Amino acid sequence: MNFNEYPIESLMYITNRPEIVFTHGKGSWLYDNNGKRYLDFIQGWAVNSLGHCNDGMIEALNTQAKLLLNPSPAFYNEPMARLAGLLTQHSCFDKVFFANSGAEANEGAIKLARKWGKKFKDGAFEIITFDHSFHGRTLATMSASGKPGWDTIYAPQVPGFPKADLNDIASVEKLINAKTVAVMLEPIQGEGGVIPATREFMQQLRALTKKHNLLLIVDEVQSGCGRAGTLFAYELSDIEPDIMTLGKGIGGGVPLAALLAKADVAVFEAGDQGGTYNGNPLMTAVGYSVISQLTAPGFLEGVRARGDYLRAKLLELSEERGFKGERGEGLLRALLLGKDIGNQIVEKARDMQPDGLLLNAARPNLLRFMPALNVTNEEIDQMMAMLRSILDTL
Ligand SMILES: *Cc1c(COP(=O)(O)O)cnc(C)c1O
Repeated sequence: MNFNEYPIESLMYITNRPEIVFTHGKGSWLYDNNGKRYLDFIQGWAVNSLGHCNDGMIEALNTQAKLLLNPSPAFYNEPMARLAGLLTQHSCFDKVFFANSGAEANEGAIKLARKWGKKFKDGAFEIITFDHSFHGRTLATMSASGKPGWDTIYAPQVPGFPKADLNDIASVEKLINAKTVAVMLEPIQGEGGVIPATREFMQQLRALTKKHNLLLIVDEVQSGCGRAGTLFAYELSDIEPDIMTLGKGIGGGVPLAALLAKADVAVFEAGDQGGTYNGNPLMTAVGYSVISQLTAPGFLEGVRARGDYLRAKLLELSEERGFKGERGEGLLRALLLGKDIGNQIVEKARDMQPDGLLLNAARPNLLRFMPALNVTNEEIDQMMAMLRSILDTL
């Protein structure tokens, strides 16, 4: 790669990245510096809920850019208020605080729970989280996460996050003591390999947390905003959590996240929480466009239909190749390969000619699919055909 044109060596190393520079995208397709195109089933890591360069989002961004970028979080602005209203209207929550990343929204949820514990539960601060969970990359959210190895990378950890096992209510009950203030989980573990919490487990958790006067926090950074086929994944279990965090899909590709809470849990006092860019009108205007499109009549029904279609195609492939089936909700799905060939498939798919395919192996033995929520059945067919041709070469 030409250093003068693309000085990639100037970027700090954080992970192995292919020597490609992406230049533009539209819908489900992404283009690189050589003009090669890729069918994108990663979509910025389940971020571009409406695909690349969605017209409504571009319009919102351009319109807002000419009006107001940032009056400071110490003042109200119009898009911030409108988006908050849209989110409370379409959820069980009453209050919204905007943030810039999923990790920051989760930090806010942790702070809010600890504040509530201080006020109403004699200083209780422990938040029960789960093995294989992922809540972000700040020190507190890494400590809350159950990712193997994360307890030692930046030791010492932030204390107060005992780990239970997903879908095992006894493992949660065992950890409850006088210091416990909340239980926090992803309704569908995303980075852990697309593992849904069962409806039964979510209902048991809600009953258990009510019984012990604990808060139930759902991290819907990945599962929320239409990804699971409902606007929020907690709806699938017919429960109402006390706190929810959103990220990824809410911005459709721009940095936006949110912390939502029931009125009686929203106990921040002046100065407790804030941030320079929080609720800035440029990003919340884009978020308003995204949530408006997701809640337009028929859109979520379409996500469920396309999710069912993808599920059927993956099951068919699994039968045909002797894989271990599939799992997930809506358009967050995983194909269980039964052997550690995920990363090999990902690389071959990307390097395919003439068109590439972008897939993710959240774990070595599975492939994760997180296409745009407006992906078409034809694009799903195209992806399946490309995947088959790669499997043929293995
Ligand atoms: C991606 C993710 C986060 C972190 O969000 P960032 O915007 O990367 O900070 C937190 N929780 C879940 C469930 C996620 O998938």
